[in-house]
Amino acid sequence: MGGKPFPVVMYFIPAALLVMAIVNLFLGGRPEPAQASGAMVQNVSVIVPPAPDLPKLKNVADQVFASFVDNSDRKQLSLKLKPGGTLAVLLDEAGVGRVEAAYAIQAISKLFNPRNFRAGQQLKLVLEPRNDNKSAMHLVSLATRIDAERTILLRRDENGSFHSRELLRETSPELVRVQGTISGSLYLSALEAGASDAAILEFSRLYAYSVDFQRGIRAGDGFDMVFERLVDEQGRMVRTGNLLYARLMPRKRDLKLYRYQTPDGEVGYYNEKGESARRFLMKTPVEGARISSSFGRRKHPVLGYTRAHKGTDFAAVTGTPILAAGNGVIERSSRFGSYGNYVRIRHSNGFKTAYAHMSKFGRGIKKGRRVQQGQIIGYVGATGRVTGPHLHYEVLKKGRHVNPMTVKLPTGRKLKRSELAAFAQEVGRIDDLLLHIGAKQSQLADAKAKDKVTES
Ligand SMILES: [Zn+2]
Repeated sequence: MGGKPFPVVMYFIPAALLVMAIVNLFLGGRPEPAQASGAMVQNVSVIVPPAPDLPKLKNVADQVFASFVDNSDRKQLSLKLKPGGTLAVLLDEAGVGRVEAAYAIQAISKLFNPRNFRAGQQLKLVLEPRNDNKSAMHLVSLATRIDAERTILLRRDENGSFHSRELLRETSPELVRVQGTISGSLYLSALEAGASDAAILEFSRLYAYSVDFQRGIRAGDGFDMVFERLVDEQGRMVRTGNLLYARLMPRKRDLKLYRYQTPDGEVGYYNEKGESARRFLMKTPVEGARISSSFGRRKHPVLGYTRAHKGTDFAAVTGTPILAAGNGVIERSSRFGSYGNYVRIRHSNGFKTAYAHMSKFGRGIKKGRRVQQGQIIGYVGATGRVTGPHLHYEVLKKGRHVNPMTVKLPTGRKLKRSELAAFAQEVGRIDDLLLHIGAKQSQLADAKAKDKVTES
C-alpha cells in the first residue's frame, strides 16, 4: 500500500450521479433479485469515469507492432516461453543469430530483466530473412506484455541497432461500492455481491484483528466496502486498487474503518475515533474470509473453551493460509505430538501464540526466525489428533493459557491529538462520498433495525 491517496475521486462524482440516474432508470420497474429471495440485501454501485476528450488509444502496442509487418517477406510469430526456456533459446529456435539475439536481449534488459520471464510468457516476433543467408532471420521487432499495465516493445533500426521502449496501458480508476449480508462465508457473499478477490481479502485482513470470524460472525451480518478498480480503455478490469472504506456489522456491533495516510506517509485503517485497525494480536489468525459463518449459530460458544481445551478452533479448508497473530520470533516449528505440525511464536509483553494441526509450514518458518504480523506461517491441515481440518490456536500470557478471544491486549496505534483534525476531514470526505453512492444504504439500515426489534 502507499502512493497518493485519492485525488481522482472527487473528479468522478458528477459522472457517478449521472450513471446512478441511468441505472435507476433501467432498474426502476424491476424487483431486486436479492430482495425477492428475502435472504439478502445487496447492492453494487459502480462509478464510471467520464469519457476522455482525447481519441481512445486502442491497442497501441498491437498497432505499432503490426506496422513492422509491412512486406511479404516478413513473418509474424506468437511464441510462448517453455518451462526452463530462456529468451536466448527462443530466439535461436526462431532462427535469429546468436550475436543479433544478444544485442536484442541487451536492449530489452534496459527495461526489464529477461531472466524474470516465466514459462508461458507470450512473445510476439516479427522476423525477416537475411540477405546473406536466407535460412537465417533478422529480428525486426518483438513485443511482450510484462504485467497488466506494461508492454515492452523492441525494434531493430535500418542500421541493425535495437531500441526498446515501454508502452503503458492507459488505466483509469472507478470507485466500486459493494454491500450485502453474509450468508455462508464472507468470501462467497462478497464475491456474489460484486467485490473482487483482492478487495475481500484486504477487507477480511483488516477485521482479523478485532473480530473472531469463527464465532463472532453469523448469517445475516452486514458488510459494506468501497474500493478502487482500475480499468483500461475498453472498460476491462486491470486490477483492484485501494480499499477506501470498510464496514462490518457482526452481531450488534458496527465497525467502520477508513483508509488514512498519516503525515509521515504511513497508510493505515482507523475507526472513527482514530484507533488503528491493527492490534497487538489478531483475533482470527487465519485467512478468515472463507470461514463459514453458518454454524456460528448452531455451535454454542462455550464449547470452544472447555477447561480441557486450551485454545480456540477455526474450521477452514486444508491449505487456507495461517497468519502470525503478531510480530515475534519463532520459538518452535516442528511436529509436536497430538498437535501435529506446530508453530509457536514469542511476542513482546510476555505473550506467546501457538498454532497446531498445520498441513505444512510457511516458507522460511524455522526456529529463531523473526516474523511480522500477518505473515503466512503455515497452512490449515489435519495433522495430529483431529477429526477434521482446522486451526487450533492458543495464546499464552507469562506461560499460562488464556482465552484468545477475551484476553486484554496492549492496544494498537492511536492517532495523536494533533492528527485528529486532518483525519476527521478525511472521514468527512469519505462519508460524503458514501452518500453519493449509497443508494441502498437505507435498506440495509432498515434490515438491521428490524433485526434488533425481533431480538429484544
Ligand atoms: Zn483445538
